[in-house]
Amino acid sequence: MADLTIIGSGITGLLISKLFNGESEIYEDVRGIEKLNSNASLWTIIPPLCGKYKQICENSINFYEEMGNKYNIFHKRVYTLTDKELSNNVISEDELANLEPNLRINSTLRKIENSFFIEGEELIKKLALESNIKFGKKVVAIDVKNDEIKYIKLSSGEKIAIKRLIIAGGYGIKELYPIDLIPYKGHLVITKSPYSLTGIIHYKGKIMVKGENNLYINGDSINDSSLSFDYEIIKDHIYTLSQIFPLDIDLKIRVGIRSVSSDGEPIVKKIYKNAVIVTGFRFGFALAPYLAKEALRIIEEM
Ligand SMILES: Cc1cc2nc3c(=O)[nH]c(=O)nc-3n(C[C@H](O)[C@H](O)[C@H](O)COP(=O)(O)OP(=O)(O)OC[C@H]3O[C@@H](n4cnc5c(N)ncnc54)[C@H](O)[C@@H]3O)c2cc1C
Repeated sequence: MADLTIIGSGITGLLISKLFNGESEIYEDVRGIEKLNSNASLWTIIPPLCGKYKQICENSINFYEEMGNKYNIFHKRVYTLTDKELSNNVISEDELANLEPNLRINSTLRKIENSFFIEGEELIKKLALESNIKFGKKVVAIDVKNDEIKYIKLSSGEKIAIKRLIIAGGYGIKELYPIDLIPYKGHLVITKSPYSLTGIIHYKGKIMVKGENNLYINGDSINDSSLSFDYEIIKDHIYTLSQIFPLDIDLKIRVGIRSVSSDGEPIVKKIYKNAVIVTGFRFGFALAPYLAKEALRIIEEM
């Protein structure tokens, strides 16, 4: 029996496994790393968007920067240019031309100094290689006796004995434990551009960032748990951003689900004597290092 069992190998489950001081195993519904929900993320951290968790998101930048250096993954600590009032630092046209010579924006932009991007898919791959993940193993039930989880049951019928459990299953937690979660679906558009783009651009509700080889775009967030493509949304992303920056016509699309609590607050709480659930924040990549540590702090007291 593992010291710690984890349900879900998204970024939260992977960081829990990475930071846990002992033997852990992860049960993951999907059949391969490439299918993970956390791969449909933009992997940016823009601290003012984290609201009252701004400082925690800034701490996450340091955490992911260390990860990026350790695993030799492309990452950048950059500014964000935004058309929202998220900073007092309004930049002039000359400054914009200097910072981003390939960007054509006429509206007022503000500069947020401390933002971050990492090639999240690469990070997930590295973390997954170091973890003990059982892919294609969906947990369908938890068996609770005397306020303690004794077993989890897999869709195959197998029963796995549990010492301690962290449920980091994103929107899937709803099927295992009664919890109010709202699914916000988002499209990640992956394209290319031969032009340089240094910072993160937050314009007309879209966010665009250039990684090592690709240009990543997101911006939509609609209450929907289906993984179907909404082509109108994708068209709008492309149309809006191609007005300000040259984009390639070759696109790859991914769809992911943000699992958000009804009050928007992150959830990390003990649900039984030996079990914790963790999820709930819209910017779940940005908060994952903090939530993983909090979940472990609780579990280590058990
Ligand atoms: C398009 C898009 C862009 C985004 N951009 C950003 C961003 O720039 N910055 C940011 O901070 N956040 C961003 N997010 C949000 C962020 O990606 C998520 O909050 C984060 O990935 C959540 O990670 P998680 O590990 O908590 O959950 P998930 O990624 O949902 O992982 C849960 C895992 O558990 C598995 N699972 C569920 N139920 C079971 C079960 N019963 N048995 C076994 N396995 C199970 C699932 O298959 C899944 O792999 C974005 C989201 C989207 C959709």
